[in-house]
Amino acid sequence: QIVATGICRTDNHLIGGLFPNTEFPVIPGHEGAGIVESVGEGVTLVKPGDKVIPLCHPQCGECSFCLNPDSNYCIKTHFHEPQTLMPDKTSRFTCKGKRIHHFLWCSTFAEYTVMPEYAVARIDAAAPLDKVCVLGCAFPTGYGAAINTAKVKPGSACAVFGLGGVGLSVVMGCKAAGASRIIAVDINKDKFAKAKELGATDCVNPKDFTKPIHEVLMEMTGHGVDYSFEVIGHTETMTAALASCHFNYGVSVIVGVPPAAQKITFDPMLLFCGRTWKGSVFGSWKSKDAIPKLVADYMEKKFVLDPLITHTLPFSKINEGFDLLRKGKR
Ligand code: NAD
Ligand code: ZN
Repeated sequence: QIVATGICRTDNHLIGGLFPNTEFPVIPGHEGAGIVESVGEGVTLVKPGDKVIPLCHPQCGECSFCLNPDSNYCIKTHFHEPQTLMPDKTSRFTCKGKRIHHFLWCSTFAEYTVMPEYAVARIDAAAPLDKVCVLGCAFPTGYGAAINTAKVKPGSACAVFGLGGVGLSVVMGCKAAGASRIIAVDINKDKFAKAKELGATDCVNPKDFTKPIHEVLMEMTGHGVDYSFEVIGHTETMTAALASCHFNYGVSVIVGVPPAAQKITFDPMLLFCGRTWKGSVFGSWKSKDAIPKLVADYMEKKFVLDPLITHTLPFSKINEGFDLLRKGKR
């Protein structure tokens, strides 16, 4: 039973046909929290009544990727084998007799959903589900991109492109890692107050400049930032973020989901000089191991989640939630 769900930009990509490997009709939603209502035969890790977070990026614990301590990319993830149907290739959703597809095995925009055992994490029974639902995607994705993927060092300079729920979580991760300068970049200036509250030291709106944003950041920092993060999902900003980091030891991380079927053309000289360009799925966390620990850390007040929760709406108003997302109001 899904008790609370967040709305992530990825759900909007899905609805717009921009998310890879999907099939329609589909029930979106992948950032939720709920309570186990019943379990199937052979399920041992959870029991009815347990509080759980669905894992949009599963951890089967058995594949060669899961067994590799350096990988969080389980072979059962959507990008490897689409999670549009259950592992037995059936759907558990129908509408008027017609089959409806699952989304990332989560489909948290349903009041009840069915998930494989290795795609749910049992969490603290005292956790408030309306808050910790953002630990299903936005927070671990952004926070982990800074501390796990980039491994931001104390005293470093970072730039975060895009200040939605995921980008703000990158800002929090950079701050927690001890970055001394965090430059927040967004074309919506309404996002700056919260970014500052969470640790951004400078806020830059590319619309305020006629020159390209990477030139602005080069001038602000001398030779570019140590770490840059693209948290929007546009090919142009992916290249701009790469060009904004130090030409030799800079690390640029792609967090925004690349729009399906689009290509990037870029000057290879950007990499030849030594920069590193990498991607980050689910903040490089091994999901099933990490989520219960992140819930415990939240309960111990090691980080905040409230700034990521801009509105709380009843399920019946979910389309208003999408309007707020599209208008940049959340
Ligand atoms: P969001 O829509 O809430 O935030 C995106 C922000 O980018 C907005 O504030 C918007 O104003 C800003 N923006 C748009 N165009 C810009 C530009 N040209 N320059 C600067 N800023 C610009 O999105 P979100 O929910 O925070 O998600 C961000 C991205 O992360 C999406 O692409 C989403 O699909 C992706 N994502 C990736 C993972 C992963 O595992 N890697 C997980 C979740 C989400
Ligand atoms: Zn696996």
